[in-house]
Amino acid sequence: MKTIKSIISHAVSFVFPITCSLCSTDLPRGAKQRVCPSCFEGLTKNDGLICKKCGVFLPDGGEHCYACLKDRKRFSFDTLRSPYVYQDGVRKLILKFKYSGRMFLTKEFENSLADTAVKNNFHNLTECIIPVPLNFVRRVKRGYNQAELLAFGAASKISKPVYTNVLYRKKITKPQFKLAKSARIENVKNSFLVKNIELIKNKNILLIDDVATTGATLSTCAAALKLAGAKKVFALTLARDM
Ligand SMILES: [Zn+2]
Ligand SMILES: [Zn+2]
Repeated sequence: MKTIKSIISHAVSFVFPITCSLCSTDLPRGAKQRVCPSCFEGLTKNDGLICKKCGVFLPDGGEHCYACLKDRKRFSFDTLRSPYVYQDGVRKLILKFKYSGRMFLTKEFENSLADTAVKNNFHNLTECIIPVPLNFVRRVKRGYNQAELLAFGAASKISKPVYTNVLYRKKITKPQFKLAKSARIENVKNSFLVKNIELIKNKNILLIDDVATTGATLSTCAAALKLAGAKKVFALTLARDM
């Protein structure tokens, strides 16, 4: 017997059909995904030749990118991996996810994140997940932290605890996308604070965010966590900007 809830949801989807978040074609009634299979397949994957350390695409192959080769201590995280390249459809979806309240898009992304975690053995190497935090004001304004949604989505697939009471933003940093690359590194320096240290002492951590551009935010988070006693910090983002 149909519940009232399912009757209402059928009626709503009849009046307002669910459409693909990229190409706007109608999706089948009751569809869980909000991106059509063809758009989803078309997203640019970051699974070719990449830097062993920072995950950046290497058009000419090799083990490391030039910057990581030149400075092995460039980043405080141990490895960064991302299932997608931050361009075209991926970029559009992440912007909707982040700024247009399209929280349902977590569903599209959590499998990709979990798959990348498993492919890189992060599920065995780490003991807990920590999302990159937003500062308090931005968190309240947006109503959600996209990194936190991704972290919980991925955690449900790889069975790890998610700690949202460990890493905090210390001061209000300007949104990274408004700054030039060099200014971004300065912007995040010393901007994170670690609480409840006992949760992460001698643990290996999986740090999750939506996008990695310079890697500066992830590196600063990893440095703060390690300073507080964490052993290794592996970073996982949905997309890698090149
Ligand atoms: Zn589509
Ligand atoms: Zn690199």
